[in-house]
Amino acid sequence: MWNIADMSLLVTCPNCGPREVEELRCAGESTKRPAAAAPSQRELNEYVYFRDNVWGVQREWWFCRVCEEWFLAERHTYTNEVVRTWHPGPADSPGGRDGSEAASQQEGAQVL
Ligand SMILES: [Zn+2]
Repeated sequence: MWNIADMSLLVTCPNCGPREVEELRCAGESTKRPAAAAPSQRELNEYVYFRDNVWGVQREWWFCRVCEEWFLAERHTYTNEVVRTWHPGPADSPGGRDGSEAASQQEGAQVL
């Protein structure tokens, strides 16, 4: 039987390469700003307070404490598998669409 203390999660920083998760910080699910130039109060509330909270792969913001850079990652919320990480590109800017084609895509993580 495995013990959680015996496991280590490596996440690939786009700058530094694979790092122990303790050297990084997950800042939570990425969100998209409302598309309207003058969003309604409801749209703003949903943007600020609501999250999809999916069971599956979700896009998240991560911060690397080593190089002090922010990056995006796709992580499975149940298995903790990090599918990929990348530097945010123009498509990832607030209000941007899917950034799946952003540059600097890298493999995600390994559970040891
Ligand atoms: Zn880094």
